[in-house]
Amino acid sequence: KKERTIEVDDLYEEISNGSRLHLSKAITLLESMNENDRIAGQDLLKRLLPKTGNSIRIGITGVPGAGKSTFIEAFGLQLAELGHKVAVLAIDPSSTVTGGSILGDKTRMEALARHKNAFIRPSPSSGTLGGVHKKTRETMLLCEASGYDIILIETVGVGQSETVVRGMVDFFMLLVLTGAGDELQGMKKGIMELADAIIVHKADGDNLRLAKKTVREYSQLLHFLQPATPGWTTTAMPVSSLQNTGLDNVWETITDFQTQMQASGIWNERRQSQTKDWFHSMVRDRLVDNFYSADGKKELVNELEKQLLSGGITVANAVDKIFNSH
Ligand code: GDP
Repeated sequence: KKERTIEVDDLYEEISNGSRLHLSKAITLLESMNENDRIAGQDLLKRLLPKTGNSIRIGITGVPGAGKSTFIEAFGLQLAELGHKVAVLAIDPSSTVTGGSILGDKTRMEALARHKNAFIRPSPSSGTLGGVHKKTRETMLLCEASGYDIILIETVGVGQSETVVRGMVDFFMLLVLTGAGDELQGMKKGIMELADAIIVHKADGDNLRLAKKTVREYSQLLHFLQPATPGWTTTAMPVSSLQNTGLDNVWETITDFQTQMQASGIWNERRQSQTKDWFHSMVRDRLVDNFYSADGKKELVNELEKQLLSGGITVANAVDKIFNSH
C-alpha cells in the first residue's frame, strides 16, 4: 500500500514535468486489469485533474488508405515544430473485436514519434468499444496534465467509432479522397454531419485538379446538411500531406473554430455535456456488467432465449422473468 503511494507521488511529479516515460507508465496503470493498479491509476488521475482540459482535442477519421497516418505525421510535425506538444491517440474498432488492427502499429509515424514534442500511443487492443473509449478519454486527460496542448485522436471510418470519437473531441475532421462521385452518393450523410471540416486528401500531382473539383462537390453538398457544431460552417479543403500543402489552412481553420466557439460558449458547453455523457455511459456499462454477471443470470438468459425461439413466451414475459429472478 505504502509503495503504491510513493509510486503515485512519483508519477504525479514526473508527469507534471513532462516525462514521456512516466506518462506511458501511468497509461499502462489505467489500462491494467489489476484492481490495485486501477485504484492507483484513478488516484493519480484525480490528483492530475486540475491540470487537464487545456488542449485542443481533434478527431480524425477516414477509410483505410485515406492517408490518416500520413496526414497526422505531417500535420503533427508541423505543429511540433511550431512549439506545440502533440499527443496522438487512436481508437481502432477492429482491434477491440479481433485483436487485429486496421490502424497498424507503432512503426507508423516514425518521424513524429522521434520528435521531442510528440507522444504517440497506439489504440488499447482489448475490451469493448465502451472500455476502449474510457481508456482513451483517461489517456487524453493524462496527456493534458503532462502539457500536451494538441491531442489528435485517430479512428477508422467503420462502425460506431466515429460517433465515439466525436463524443470526446472539440473538432472533428473527415479525410476523403477524390473521385468521390459515387462515394459522395453512397456516403452516409450521418458521417458528414459529424464533421467540422472535410479534408480532400492527396491533392497533389495528377490528382490536384480532380481534388479541387471534389472540394467544390463537397462544398455544395454541405449546404444541405446540418452543421456538426452550432454556429460553425463546415468547409471542405484540399490537402497534400506528401507535399505539405493545405496543412496551414487546416490549422488556421481549427484555431478560428476555437476562437469562435470559446466566444460563443459552445466550446465549454460541449465539453460539459461530453463529460456528463461519459459519466452516464460508464454507469450504463457498469449496470449491464453487474446485471449479467450475477449468479445464474447467464443460464437463465440462455434458457429464456430458447423459450423465445420455440414460441413459448413473449419477449415482454422473458424480460419480466429476468428482472424478477434473484
Ligand atoms: P491510412 O490507412 O488512412 O492511415 O493511410 P496511410 O497514411 O497509410 O496512406 C495510405 C497511402 O496513401 C500510402 O501509400 C501513402 O503514401 C499515400 N498517401 C498518404 N498521403 C498522401 C498524399 O498527401 N498524397 C499522395 N499522393 N499520397 C498519399
